[in-house]
Amino acid sequence: MPQNSGCLYVIATPIGNLGDITERARDVLGKVDWVAVEDTRRTRQLLTHLGLRQRLISLHEHNETERVHELLGRLSGGEDGALVSDAGTPLISDPGFRLVTAARDRDLPVVPLPGPCAAIAALSVAGLPSDRFLFEGFLPARSGPRRRRLAELAVVRETLIFYEAVHRIDRSLADLADVLGEQRRAFLARELTKQHETFYRGSLEAVRAQVAADPAGTKGEMTLIVSGCPDPDGPSTAELERVYALLAAELPPGKAARLAARITGAKRADAYRLASLPDAD
Ligand code: SAM
Repeated sequence: MPQNSGCLYVIATPIGNLGDITERARDVLGKVDWVAVEDTRRTRQLLTHLGLRQRLISLHEHNETERVHELLGRLSGGEDGALVSDAGTPLISDPGFRLVTAARDRDLPVVPLPGPCAAIAALSVAGLPSDRFLFEGFLPARSGPRRRRLAELAVVRETLIFYEAVHRIDRSLADLADVLGEQRRAFLARELTKQHETFYRGSLEAVRAQVAADPAGTKGEMTLIVSGCPDPDGPSTAELERVYALLAAELPPGKAARLAARITGAKRADAYRLASLPDAD
């Protein structure tokens, strides 16, 4: 590690609720020599809220290559700097990759300050398998490339996490249902941590219908979680759902879930998830 070099702090910031800033983020933001930011106005608002007046240096998709050189010089010269994005964790569908890689290549210290991330926040409340997941971020904006990418993802067994722009959500959900199958389980988190935080849950088709029926459904920011490809050797989700629905009309949910799992050979945990009950174990 070069002697007397400064440290680059990679700091997560709130995705809506300013109360989600961590104490450590506040402390470090208050003592660094500069803060590299995506949008100076957005971060100025956050710093003002925190009572800070640190120097801001813009760093975005279009100037990152040139800026990296300048920021590395500052770090090598002993200045401490912070990297923040407009919201959430830097580098997660946000700028900063080139800066962090270049700093690592030069053996400069890079320290994470963890905090909010829309993908993880949504996954943590989705009620879909969270032991393994694939973060896809934004799908292609155009339908052709989007459907081709979805065809590749159709066989992925892990839970899928997508970011999506609000004006594309209906068309994306339609393509998702078409390519992955409309019965795939889905969870859409809109406006996480904000005043109008809303969740839509069900099959892809059901979620699409719920969003379309909600007058506010196409406003704000959205993160979508979709269950992975069902076990090709196990019973289909549709079969488990069909049997569970028949039994649940006559029996309490726990009993219906246990019997549905035994009849179809599905995992008990899957049947319990369908019944919105805690796992069976
Ligand atoms: N780096 C950020 C993070 O850690 O979550 C993500 C940045 S990415 C450019 C912005 C996308 O994240 C939005 O289009 C949306 O899909 C998702 N997102 C950000 N804030 C959100 C929120 N409050 N609720 C739901 N989704 C959100």
